[in-house]
Amino acid sequence: MTINHHPPEDLLADFAAGRLDEADRLVVGVHAAQCPRCRRFIAAIEQLAGAALEQAAPVTMADDAFATIMAAIDEPEAAPVPALSRPVPLLDDDLPEILLRCRFGKSRRVAPGVKMQPIVLPGAGQSRAFLLWSAPGTRMLEHSHTGTELTLVLKGSFSHQGGDFRPGDFDFGDGEVDHQPIVGNDMPCLCLVAMSGDLQMRGWLGRLISPFVRL
Ligand SMILES: [Zn+2]
Repeated sequence: MTINHHPPEDLLADFAAGRLDEADRLVVGVHAAQCPRCRRFIAAIEQLAGAALEQAAPVTMADDAFATIMAAIDEPEAAPVPALSRPVPLLDDDLPEILLRCRFGKSRRVAPGVKMQPIVLPGAGQSRAFLLWSAPGTRMLEHSHTGTELTLVLKGSFSHQGGDFRPGDFDFGDGEVDHQPIVGNDMPCLCLVAMSGDLQMRGWLGRLISPFVRL
């Protein structure tokens, strides 16, 4: 897997410091599990934090700090949950194991050629997590965000002004970003998304359908 797009460094730093809410942590964690470069960055932040602690007080960072973080990613659920709530139509067996262990709500259609399925997380954070399935060649409406949108490609691909995004790639959107993703023609695209706030559609068509697009 060649990964070309990574989370912004401040997001990785917040992940390392445990400052992300559950949904954001899930998406960054699934990316980091696939991305040696981001794991190294997170480990470096850990070491810096450890060094700062050593200077501040006679405490040393545990050798297994990073392993502990990765273990925490592996177990995003605080409480024991059923292995897999069925049906899970958007998810294949060959997807990241962390996701196979999550609980899912009911999938629903949000627009022509676009379906979403919520992921049930225990902590009530600002962001919600869901799978987003789009048919080949789907053109999303141009939109911006009132909050943040963290997207990890699991299967297929999409493109927008920021480049081409393939499995493992991470896309960060916020109110500064105005984009119109187009899904690759060859196969459906499945993404893991954490979103806070709402989508803001652009153009007359976007404003017209915006009350009906709920993610
Ligand atoms: Zn990465």
